[in-house]
Amino acid sequence: MSAPTFPTLPTGRLLIDGALVEPLGTAAPFDAIDPATGRVIMQVPACDIADVDRAVGAAHRCFQSTAWQSMRPLDRGRLLERLALLVERERDDLAALESLDSGKLLAVTQAIDLQFTIDGLRYFAGWASKIAGETVSHSPLVEEAALYRAFTQRRPVGVVAGITPWNFPIGQAIQKIAPAIAFGCTIVLKPSEETSLTALRLGELILEAGFPAGAVNIVTGTGAAVGVPLVAHPLVRKIAFTGSNATGQAILTEAARTMKRVTLELGGKSPTIVLADADLDKAIPGAAAAIFANSGQICTAGSRLLVEAPVHDAVIEGVCRIARDLRLGSPFAADTQMGPLISARQRDRVAALVEAGLAEGAHPLEGACAASGPGWFYRPTVLAGVEAGMSVMREEIFGPVVCAVKITDRADIVRIANDTPYGLAASVWTQDIDTAHLLAERIDAGTVWINTHNVLDLAMPFGGSKLSGVGREFGSEALQAFTEPRAICLRL
Ligand code: NAD
Repeated sequence: MSAPTFPTLPTGRLLIDGALVEPLGTAAPFDAIDPATGRVIMQVPACDIADVDRAVGAAHRCFQSTAWQSMRPLDRGRLLERLALLVERERDDLAALESLDSGKLLAVTQAIDLQFTIDGLRYFAGWASKIAGETVSHSPLVEEAALYRAFTQRRPVGVVAGITPWNFPIGQAIQKIAPAIAFGCTIVLKPSEETSLTALRLGELILEAGFPAGAVNIVTGTGAAVGVPLVAHPLVRKIAFTGSNATGQAILTEAARTMKRVTLELGGKSPTIVLADADLDKAIPGAAAAIFANSGQICTAGSRLLVEAPVHDAVIEGVCRIARDLRLGSPFAADTQMGPLISARQRDRVAALVEAGLAEGAHPLEGACAASGPGWFYRPTVLAGVEAGMSVMREEIFGPVVCAVKITDRADIVRIANDTPYGLAASVWTQDIDTAHLLAERIDAGTVWINTHNVLDLAMPFGGSKLSGVGREFGSEALQAFTEPRAICLRL
């Protein structure tokens, strides 16, 4: 391992109402911990209901203000463009901070997370000036219909609560902030308590970019102390949530009381399907990357590997070889291929789920144990002998653990792929374009990749069916998610 890099740390203050402030409450700050070493990086403010109230109040005042309501859409876009420039200026530093706080490989945060963040700001900056309603052929139940004109406008929903997980911290923050601002909303962002640091730095850059006071507010703390009052706050009109299924269900229940709009981007148990005619030189590394990238902590991770019998052994052996050879270590070392899990709790959870699978009859082909080291590492794991009803096959593990299934009858593929409570993503590896299309149409998932996996495109709708969530983000779907139609009827 090379010596760790120490990026610029945030000041540790919250962005509320256009200023960097200390929390109001008296709760002791909590530790931001480097998951690769277990060392404390810095202290993070522990907000409470008073800070939530202050932040939502500021977002609401900004939203109601004439200045915000009359701001030209192009100028909202320019705010995002200015922020993109500042993130670009700080790119290497932010990437290092993200790696330190989350354990993600530096090469990945530099090439993917920060690129996604900058692209996301620019992508949504472009949307700010593309918000359009429609004209409607009016047919009221009255005579003289010809005297009526009807059209719709898309109006911003109001104050948004953005609540994000720890596996893609800065990217997720921008995934909430950028569309909210582009579509004319204001926002209070609560990052995961596991990874608050890049969100706090973003707050400093948002201030420097000259966003109006209250347009974006950032509060830190736990789900119980901050997330719950944020979701319940009467002035919040929409919740844009990414995280676990259990939290998503709690949010949906609470949101129903005040009819808040929600988008819920939740977990998955996505199949990677390798057909007999697949190009194995691509499918084998593709299937391995689908599950082992980011130590398996990706909502769309290919955690069920379904392989047709003729190529089953070759694919599983290939994936096992890759798993065996993966170098675990410091996210800052150039030769590290897999970093730690986010926390001791998450490593123990992964270990417990694997143990449960083994007790139910699964057998390990690779891994199935924690790795030594001061941080929270878990060996890349391949399980065979799995059955449809086992917990390892049904529950999202959110770690580097894949269940291998042999497909002996092609007619079973769709049924097995869809035999999960989740519906987030899938990939199909084949050289037969007809089969690829037919499977893509029948697999119950928000995204189906063909001969690739985990490719995110800001222009494509992203989200899941079944337990994987409600609604979509990205692309034109984001316009629907952050605005509401207003019907206007005019009598000449
Ligand atoms: P989590 O649900 O534990 O926490 C997510 C966020 O919700 C955190 O900020 C947390 O503080 C907050 N929170 C917790 N309880 C809350 C409550 N009752 N009310 C309001 N907020 C609350 O999820 P996690 O463990 O941080 O992240 C991992 C999960 O996120 C996995 O299930 C993964 O699949 C999912 N995820 C989904 C996507 C997607 O786009 N579908 C992307 C990334 C991660």
